[in-house]
Amino acid sequence: MPTFDYRCCACGEYFEVFVRGEEAVCCPECASQELEKLLSMPALKTDNTHAQAMSAAKRRDKRQARDNYWSQRDYERAHYEEDTGIKPKYEETPKKYKLTDD
Ligand SMILES: [Zn+2]
Repeated sequence: MPTFDYRCCACGEYFEVFVRGEEAVCCPECASQELEKLLSMPALKTDNTHAQAMSAAKRRDKRQARDNYWSQRDYERAHYEEDTGIKPKYEETPKKYKLTDD
C-alpha cells in the first residue's frame, strides 16, 4: 500500500495518507482538500546515505588495492636487488593498477 506525505495548504498540517485508488485525500485537521503532495524525504535520505556509503567503500577499496600493490612492488624490488645486485628499472604502472580516486 503506497503512502504519501501531504501538507495542508489551509492549516499547514503535515500528514501521511495511505492512498487507496482514486480516493480523495483531505486534511485530518481541517478537512481541506487543498493539499500539497510531498516527496517522501526519509526514503530519499536513505537512498543518498546508501549511495554515499557505497561510493566511500569503493574509494576505500581502490586505495587499499593500490597500497597493497605498491607495498608488494617494493617488496619484490628489494628482493630483486638483494638477489641480483641490479637495481630494477621497472617503474611503469601497469594499466590495471592505474586507479583514480573518483
Ligand atoms: Zn488542514
